Amino acid sequence: MMSSDQNVFGKKLYIESYGCAMNFSDSEIVASILTASGYATTRNEEEAQVVLINTCSIRDNAELRVRNRLNHFNVRKRKQPGLVVGILGCMAERLKSTLLEEEKIVDLVVGPDAYRDLPLLIEQVEGGQKAVNVLLSREETYAEINPVRLDNSGVTSFVSIMRGCDNMCSFCVVPFTRGRERSRDPETIVHEVKYLFEQGYREVTLLGQNVDSYRWNITKKGEIIEPGKSTVNFAQLLELVALVSPQIRVRFSTSHPKDMVDEVLHTMARHHNICKYIHLPVQSGSSSVLERMNRGYSREWYLDRIAAIRRIMPDCAISTDIITGFCGETEAEHAETASLMREVGYEFAYMFKYSERPKTLAERKFKDDIPEAIKQQRLEEIIQIQHESSHQRNIQAVGKVFEVLIEGNSKKSDKSLHGRNSQNQVVVFERGNHQKGTYVNVKITACTSATLIGEVV
Ligand code: SAM
Ligand code: SF4
Repeated sequence: MMSSDQNVFGKKLYIESYGCAMNFSDSEIVASILTASGYATTRNEEEAQVVLINTCSIRDNAELRVRNRLNHFNVRKRKQPGLVVGILGCMAERLKSTLLEEEKIVDLVVGPDAYRDLPLLIEQVEGGQKAVNVLLSREETYAEINPVRLDNSGVTSFVSIMRGCDNMCSFCVVPFTRGRERSRDPETIVHEVKYLFEQGYREVTLLGQNVDSYRWNITKKGEIIEPGKSTVNFAQLLELVALVSPQIRVRFSTSHPKDMVDEVLHTMARHHNICKYIHLPVQSGSSSVLERMNRGYSREWYLDRIAAIRRIMPDCAISTDIITGFCGETEAEHAETASLMREVGYEFAYMFKYSERPKTLAERKFKDDIPEAIKQQRLEEIIQIQHESSHQRNIQAVGKVFEVLIEGNSKKSDKSLHGRNSQNQVVVFERGNHQKGTYVNVKITACTSATLIGEVV
């Protein structure tokens, strides 16, 4: 969840975001569009005339959270009848105008490609009508919009480099809610990163559902669209961004195992400021499950990509996403996921129970036949494996020295600061005279399963 204060003039807008980093980044685009129309963002929902909820549809419980939140705004709307309540993002796109019927307090439903229309749609609502725009676009990337930063830590920021997804993994609703894949003009990306650097930011995370298929002026088949103009692939984009300054760190998410090429790994190895951390969602360790998931790779292919990362960047950290209890998953298939996790030894993993989503390939083709209790049991088992693996990785870090970018106060004590190393591990150390947004070298002296503890050297 996120909201923000920007200035004190104009009508007040309160935005809440759920789900992935892309949604948080989109909320900053929305804030920028509405700020240009005279709105001011606020962190205090009580003083807002417009409340926007940027929603997630990835699992059923993500949608339930939003429905519960709407009950809360329902109470507010009774006290303040002029309050405009809008639903943005994936739920808006998935449910369209039925949301207006199901949730009476909702005035506005706007999909991820229609945010430029928000000022007009809000006017329409203020004129007494309900408003919906859920048109998906093949071109919209909000390329030239400079997002209003809502999470004003002032050190790290997301930068969207592409939108949509063409992959059609059988479990996933994203291709339906976010439309076709399209890449953003690299010049506008570099311009945004330069601007962030000048504002004092020291880390950017380049965002896309499948960053490895980023391409500018090239078709999927590799043909040049406009001869005479330069082409840019993901490895080249990474390099362009890394060259903005050696003082700005570059991260990216998400890589797709079927598309991750060695060129990207070599580019990462060449630049100290491209963080040695890759999020490479595997989903399952079983080739037969991966085939049902339509992921486009096998267990062997995935392990070959892991081997390439280890060969080219021995110090690179790897994290993943895993789904338990996908349609027809047998005990043996589940055991393959457990064995793959042990073999890779991930630094970190996001783990989920399979949640059937309407209209997806899996919903149409397979039965959601694994009982909830088994999904849960398998989830707990892999959480335990991951817990041990994360702890092991942290123990291996003790005694080493890492360059850490300071992000702010430690959560537990004002006397300590926290930051992350290139491998994305959280490091806590004594404050001393050190400042947020600067780099320090920290020797690790102890650890928990989630945090490294150290002293500045
Ligand atoms: N594009 C990214 C990729 O391909 O890895 C991930 C996008 S999705 C927002 C994040 C994660 O949610 C996925 O990697 C997957 O593990 C999980 N997920 C997606 N659909 C799901 C579903 N129906 N049930 C459970 N988990 C799901
Ligand atoms: Fe969903 Fe697959 Fe696209 Fe990721 S790559 S967003 S999991 S369809």
